[in-house]
Amino acid sequence: MRTMVSKALADVKMEPFWPDRPDRPETLPPLTAPRKADLLVVGGGFTGLWAAIQARQAKPDCAVILIEKSSAASGASGRNGGVASTSVMHGLSNAARIFPKDIAALEVLGQENMRGFMQVIAENGIDCHAEWGGELNVAIEDSQIDSLREEHDLHLKYGHNAVFLDRDALAGHIRSPRYKAGVWTKDVAGTVHPALLAWGLKRLALTLGVEIYETTPLLSLEETAGKMRVTTPHGSVVADRVLLATNAFMAGHRHIKRRIVPIRDRVLATEPLSDAQMAAIGWGNRQGIYDMRTQMNYMRLTKDNRIIFGGRLAYAFNGDTSPDVDREHATYAPLAEAFFDTFPQLEGLAFSHAWSGAIDLSTRMAVHFQRYHGGKVVYAGGYSGFGVTASRFGARVALDILNGSTLPESRLEFATQLPSIVPPEPFRWLGAQITMNALDTADQKGGWRLPWLKFVSALGFPLH
Ligand SMILES: Cc1cc2nc3c(=O)[nH]c(=O)nc-3n(C[C@H](O)[C@H](O)[C@H](O)COP(=O)(O)OP(=O)(O)OC[C@H]3O[C@@H](n4cnc5c(N)ncnc54)[C@H](O)[C@@H]3O)c2cc1C
Repeated sequence: MRTMVSKALADVKMEPFWPDRPDRPETLPPLTAPRKADLLVVGGGFTGLWAAIQARQAKPDCAVILIEKSSAASGASGRNGGVASTSVMHGLSNAARIFPKDIAALEVLGQENMRGFMQVIAENGIDCHAEWGGELNVAIEDSQIDSLREEHDLHLKYGHNAVFLDRDALAGHIRSPRYKAGVWTKDVAGTVHPALLAWGLKRLALTLGVEIYETTPLLSLEETAGKMRVTTPHGSVVADRVLLATNAFMAGHRHIKRRIVPIRDRVLATEPLSDAQMAAIGWGNRQGIYDMRTQMNYMRLTKDNRIIFGGRLAYAFNGDTSPDVDREHATYAPLAEAFFDTFPQLEGLAFSHAWSGAIDLSTRMAVHFQRYHGGKVVYAGGYSGFGVTASRFGARVALDILNGSTLPESRLEFATQLPSIVPPEPFRWLGAQITMNALDTADQKGGWRLPWLKFVSALGFPLH
């Protein structure tokens, strides 16, 4: 296995696959003058872009400025797996865990959000390679089949078109010797090209009259005469309201990090599969797939039939989010091993790209809203690796909170309550190291690792 993995990684580019395209848009010029706005959005990922778009659509005379420290989609939005889901709460099981009372309302909101997401893409001609093959959750151990059945029941209860697939039926959808059973949720879920989506949203925001300044980091945020002043290296913005859409980077307020743990997640892209290789895995419906390993893997196909395969988490002291830490081939070897363990029939296939991205882990595993400066500033984040479509919803609710919480959903618990505080350093780092080790080795070694993962789950992170 070791030789196969090092051969497969030999020529890999250490950069995200998605933005590595000739049609990558130019980075827009930075802010260089003092400006005023009704709404300032900080962060040019999905949350920030959707917020800017929805603010202008709701009120075309609202002056909206968006600042981004690098370029749109340079954060998680250009680095993710691109699996698009209907749930706005990190899946139905997680919604049942965190807000059992509101689950029906949250399901309706998720479906409305997905319809709105699809409508905006279609109406504005955003070609982001969307494919609606659904989502497939697969068990890799017999012991996981019962919880898969429970998940299936939950999906049926809330009206999803979900199918339970036993081992033989599953082999008709994807062939892996590791897969024991699966639940295929067919309705409105699938995959998108995340960078094309973000760039399309950026174009739409500009068309709607949003002023966007890239290479413009927020340096400080202060209240002055009832308004908010944001300072950047070469200019400042005075705004009535500020949305901090800074995800795992947590910029804008020093308290955000109390409830967010920035975790790096790794991803590999393969070279395009040949027809024979495609036939060998039989992935005809092209679903987004999640497996149930303790170090979960997710995967999907691209338009040119590469496999995007992700899922090795890591935490650096003080939550360092720089992907530069992840530029060593060796960092990706365990993920590559998991790939060939899943698809041994693809031996000889090479990886073209390897990268990591920052995930905003929260104990709730879903978006929450932190209010600062008497509600003039809101941070929206905590999607915990499940925000491709939920970010549109997070942006909508954040805007409503900034406008005084007039929507019924802004009064549900997910919008009014906060996830738990996570202990600070060095306990955070220590806990993360033990947890990552347990996640890496629990499937093979068991022992203390399973009780530890149960303990971490009891603290609020549902790892086991
Ligand atoms: C590896 C990986 C795989 C994932 N896979 C999936 C998936 O398959 N499906 C799914 O639903 N979700 C997935 N996610 C999660 C999803 O990508 C995120 O939830 C979503 O992109 C969050 O968007 P965002 O705009 O909130 O954050 P980001 O895209 O991270 O945007 C935040 C932006 O803020 C900017 N910023 C930071 N600091 C400053 C500052 N001081 N001044 C100005 N700007 C600043 C950053 O540069 C960045 O562009 C994945 C995430 C990762 C990392």
